[in-house]
Amino acid sequence: MEKQVPHIKTALPGPEAKKVLALDHQFVSPSYTRDYPLVARRGQGMFVEDVDGNSFLDFSAGIAVVSTGHCHPEVVKAIQRQAENLIHLSGTDFYYPQIAQLAEKVAAITPGNFAKRVYFGNSGTEAMEAALKLARYHTRRPGFIGFFGSFHGRTFGALSITASKAVQRNRFGPLLSGVAHAPYPNPYRCAAGHKPGECECDPLEFIEKILFKTSVPPEEVAAIVVEPIQGEGGYIIPPSSFLPRLRELADRHGILLIFDEVQCGMGRTGKMWACQHDGVVPDILISAKGIASGLPLSVTVARADIMDWPPGAHASTFGGNPVACAAAFETIRLLEEKYIDNAARVGEYILKRISNWPAKHRIVGHVRGRGLMIGIELVKSQETREPFPEARHTILERAFEQGLLILGCGESTVRLMPPLIVEEQHSDIALDILERCISEAEEKL
Ligand code: PLP
Repeated sequence: MEKQVPHIKTALPGPEAKKVLALDHQFVSPSYTRDYPLVARRGQGMFVEDVDGNSFLDFSAGIAVVSTGHCHPEVVKAIQRQAENLIHLSGTDFYYPQIAQLAEKVAAITPGNFAKRVYFGNSGTEAMEAALKLARYHTRRPGFIGFFGSFHGRTFGALSITASKAVQRNRFGPLLSGVAHAPYPNPYRCAAGHKPGECECDPLEFIEKILFKTSVPPEEVAAIVVEPIQGEGGYIIPPSSFLPRLRELADRHGILLIFDEVQCGMGRTGKMWACQHDGVVPDILISAKGIASGLPLSVTVARADIMDWPPGAHASTFGGNPVACAAAFETIRLLEEKYIDNAARVGEYILKRISNWPAKHRIVGHVRGRGLMIGIELVKSQETREPFPEARHTILERAFEQGLLILGCGESTVRLMPPLIVEEQHSDIALDILERCISEAEEKL
């Protein structure tokens, strides 16, 4: 694993990978979406080695999770130290220092100069469940407003707000009642299908002038739930006026504002939180994924006066597990020390390098990003902006064959979300491979 370049030495999948795939296909839930047959054996820094000894450069970070890279030595040490002393006790029934200390740290690093409290879960969807239940409990209002294209998780509450792909909801209804969705502002692509340059849609006017006047009395809305940058929906960065206007609208109607920073938080955008780019403070913020470099942990952080539920109202056996807390402490330390700045610097470097791709490649419609949350949207025609999912499929597969791990988001966007330790030299290797794959797709399709 010392190699600093991807190295593919077998046909893919290799012989050992094929054995695992056969077992997996027989016994593992078929609901998982795997774009290509990577069968990993170990990871170190920016690289993942598969069970046949092939080495891949990782620009997906376990879906934005291994923020400090694979098996960062300091994170591993912190996990080992904690595992030798106390692996589990359950923070719902007992006290231990790690959970209280991490809550104090999380309260300090989240936006808002007010007293906060922190609820611990194990995943993004659990953090969202807690946020939704808390919003209902505190406001005594039943309703929620989410946004089309958003992803918040797959348990029933979170799924009710999620409006990303129909397959995620198909046959799971009825979901939570009292949930409405508004269009998410997409500077490149109008949700109502208006032609580029002709769109005057305003999601906030939609909420105020249509939802509130027709089907959703604002007095019944507990919270508006939003991703400051839409993740699974396509790495969409809304105009900088969006969050401030949403804050103002929510305040005017006594509605809580919940920011889902599960994917865009923990330094990925070059600041600890994506909402800090626009200076907007939510009432409740959730995070997970990159918070503990790969151990399962999530947080739901709320103003202390909002988190007013009594003992027994909500809890989880594993949430805030001491080993996950230790990993989170070390992760946050490393992010604050150097990796958030690195994300800003290398993200800018990558964006600069790919900014001329729409001019060079007819199937690249748009490139966009903030820090290391970068999207490259593929289109059949730059004029019509028709999505091109087939091209994305080809590009992801070809990149894998050439030793680069990337994933898609939205209908036809390639997303780059490397660990925050990524350096310019890794980016050059990844972008050379990716550009080659784009050219190949252009020729083939
Ligand atoms: N919220 C956002 C913005 C996400 O991107 C995700 C997962 O991709 C979730 C919530 C759900 O997180 P988890 O898969 O950990 O439940």
